[in-house]
Parts: sequence; C-alpha cells; structure tokens
Amino acid sequence: MPDNSEQHSRRMGRKKAVIDAAIAKADGDKGLLLVLTGNGKGKSSSAFGMVARTLGYGYKAGVAQFLKSRRDTGEERFLGDQPGVQWHVLGDGFTWDTQNRDADIATAQRGWAIAQSLLTDVSLHLVVLDELTYLLNYGYLDEAQVCKDLAARPPMQHVVITGRAAPDALLEMADTVSEIQDIKHAFRAGVRAQAGIDL
Ligand code: ATP
Ligand code: MG
Repeated sequence: MPDNSEQHSRRMGRKKAVIDAAIAKADGDKGLLLVLTGNGKGKSSSAFGMVARTLGYGYKAGVAQFLKSRRDTGEERFLGDQPGVQWHVLGDGFTWDTQNRDADIATAQRGWAIAQSLLTDVSLHLVVLDELTYLLNYGYLDEAQVCKDLAARPPMQHVVITGRAAPDALLEMADTVSEIQDIKHAFRAGVRAQAGIDL
C-alpha cells in the first residue's frame, strides 16, 4: 500500500533525524586508506575520480600505476599533464613473456621505492597505488613492509589502493573497502575497450 502524504512526510522526517544524527557524530578527520577491489569494472576509474576531486580543491596528488599494458590511456593523457599531479608508471618492466621472477621482483621493488617517496611526501593530499594488489599476491613485494610504509605515511594523507583480490592485511588496515561485483561486462559480448570508458 503506498503511503498517504502525511505518513510519507512523518516517515521522511524520522529518516532525516537519523541521518542528521549520524552526520553530526561523524565529525573527525584523518588520512584515509581506501581499498577498491573485486572483479567488476570501476576500481581504477573511481580512484582517478578522487584524483580529479582532489585537484578541484587545489591539493596535490601522486599516482603510481603498478601494472600497465599501455601508455596512451585517457587518465594519463589528462591527469598526468595537470599541475599538481605526479604520475608514475612502474609496471613497464614486468616480464610476462619470459616469466623471469627475479627480474619481476626487481621491477616491483624499484616501483615500491617510488611509492615510498609518495608515501613520505607531506605535500601530497592523495596517493593512488593502482593495481598494487597483484604485486602482493604474486609475492613480488613484502606485505609487511608495504603495510608498515602505509601506516607510517603523513597522518592526513589519503591513499587509494586498487586491484582484484586485495589481501586480508590490506582489508584489515583500510578505513573504507569497496568490492565491485562483476555482474556484466561488455567485453564478454564482444565489445573491445572503449576510449574514455575503459581506458
Ligand atoms: P576501470 O579502469 O575501467 O575502472 P578496473 O580498474 O575496475 O577498471 P581492471 O581489472 O584494472 O578493472 O581492468 C582494467 C580494464 O579491464 C578496463 O578496460 C576494464 O573495463 C576492463 N575490465 C574490468 N573488469 C572487467 C571484467 N569483469 N571483464 C572484462 N573486462 C573488465
Ligand atoms: Mg584497474
């Protein structure tokens, strides 16, 4: 049965009181650790949306992309050129073809050294560590070291980590975790990656 308008306005009034109380209670500030994981599309693009928001306030952002198959993405073309953005592509040395594990570990560790420079830079309001989860899952990076460096970052610095199958240690230390579910993806219907949507 649909509400009559008096019932509806009473119900909405109660809802507003609950929401207002929750908003009034959430009055703290801190640098957040966000983890965007899951098999659905939208993890990296959400992270880049937060880079755009950050720049909108005149703050600075650092982006480290740990796995990358191409250098001509829309995000790098646009955000990589903005003043206030440091853009690092750290995955170009991975040796998928030769499967040389030692070389991959060396590439990952060189990449993490750059990430450490972002995580100790107090001028950065936001740091994005895009596709970091894979390096942890392959054992290319030491999880304890990564967690230690994340914990030691400047207290007001926000960090967004993306990638499928985020390890438990990251989920535990994160303030916000979203798991994007794969319900449908156009790729499986034979549509190739579309400029501005997928890359
Ligand atoms: P996006 O960068 O679009 O936000 P993502 O970061 O969530 O995607 P990744 O696993 O990093 O996802 O994959 C990046 C690329 O793969 C994008 O082109 C994206 O559209 C595509 N993709 C993501 N999820 C799926 C999926 N479930 N099936 C097929 N392709 C996918
Ligand atoms: Mg991604």
